Amino acid sequence: MTRTIDRTRLAELRAREEQAFTDAHPKSRELSQRASGHLLGGVPMNWMRRWPGAFPVFVDEASGATFTDVDGNTYTDLCLGDTGAMTGHAPPATVAALSAQAPRGLTMMLPTEDSVLVGAELDARFGLPIWQFALSATDANRFALRLARFATGRSRILVFNWCYHGTVDETLVALDPAGDVVARPGNTGPPVDPRVTTAVVEFNDIDGLEAALAAGDVACVLAEPALTNIGIVMPDPGFHDALREITRRTGTLLIIDETHTICAGPGGATRAWGLDPDLLVIGKPIAGGVPAAAYGMTTEIAAQVGEVMAGEDTDVSGVGGTLAANALSLAAIRATLSSSLRDEDFAIAVPLAERWARGVADVIGGHGLAWTVQQLGARAEYWFCPAPRTGGEAAAAVDHELDAFMHLYAMNRGILLTPFHNMALFCAAHTEADVDRHTEVFAAAVEELLAS
Ligand code: PMP
Repeated sequence: MTRTIDRTRLAELRAREEQAFTDAHPKSRELSQRASGHLLGGVPMNWMRRWPGAFPVFVDEASGATFTDVDGNTYTDLCLGDTGAMTGHAPPATVAALSAQAPRGLTMMLPTEDSVLVGAELDARFGLPIWQFALSATDANRFALRLARFATGRSRILVFNWCYHGTVDETLVALDPAGDVVARPGNTGPPVDPRVTTAVVEFNDIDGLEAALAAGDVACVLAEPALTNIGIVMPDPGFHDALREITRRTGTLLIIDETHTICAGPGGATRAWGLDPDLLVIGKPIAGGVPAAAYGMTTEIAAQVGEVMAGEDTDVSGVGGTLAANALSLAAIRATLSSSLRDEDFAIAVPLAERWARGVADVIGGHGLAWTVQQLGARAEYWFCPAPRTGGEAAAAVDHELDAFMHLYAMNRGILLTPFHNMALFCAAHTEADVDRHTEVFAAAVEELLAS
């Protein structure tokens, strides 16, 4: 028999943890109160409200796999800036490159030699020869979508239900219970009805994909290799082969977004699983946390878009940006990719994720809970249900109350999980002791929840 959580007990424990959080963070609380006078919602960026506790923790400094808040509390960071700091915080080689480049110029709207070396390194990692740069994965996705539309002469795109590719208008969509495309809940001020721009099918739904692409009016599929933003939803065996075959047959381009799935290895899931996209996007950690992203393409796409991109109207093409490919971020990418996110770094981080997943699974199994653990390379997470196969199933299973409690419980004991999920990301700076501490804290939380 599987066991369930008593919601009254959960609420009591949560109230106790909320109080403990407030008591342990007087300076963060004070900063938060001051911030509310000048910052929207009391934070410099709205997502920073999505942490457990009545106010966000203000950070004093971060290094490697830990950070310290303004009250002097130290944390093992299993969030790593939601992948932005997947190299570990302040990676020494990146910091050194920033210090070396900064006095030599930050941005010139002219290329530096670093860009040439970085283009070759991205080709070696992801198998696509031609590259461009942006400041965020969101922008890289927007630019890749534009190139795909231009190359195909088609206007619509397709994404998977409950995907996340940044704040790209066409992708903030979902399927409603009747299977119709709707603006995703929370989508603020969408510019157009998303049915105009976007087709949506469930991840792993090959028949749905076939039907949606059959008319030949979709420019591209934009996909993560596995969904990672509604928890981890893994592809079924054969799903990627089918995706590639159907897209090719219908003249639809395939854009793979590796921004999170770089956790699968140095060339992301694209290299690990032998994917063969037409375009590829990678953001977040490639510059060690400095704003930078890249998008790569085949020589065929480059040939199709090259002339117009080199034309005299390229500055108003809707692609590019004044600060994109600036000297500082290219120096940071070069240093980061030479010193982090390499095979030897994953050889440390992936076994830690495996150990974390085993530890959590043992606690779950020991208590007869129908919860599960998923792992993808250096990233792992637990679910309060059996593993979902689609984004729709995953979204329906989200338990905000239980999430908030588990996060707060961990945070009050010096462990930061990734917000929006119960997810842990590992880097080469983490240790087995970090993992075992989490297992201990997780076990204590579950025991308290189940105690009657
Ligand atoms: N792609 C994926 C797969 C992501 O997970 C995210 C952010 N979570 C983005 C793109 C957008 O990244 P950014 O917010 O840095 O633009």
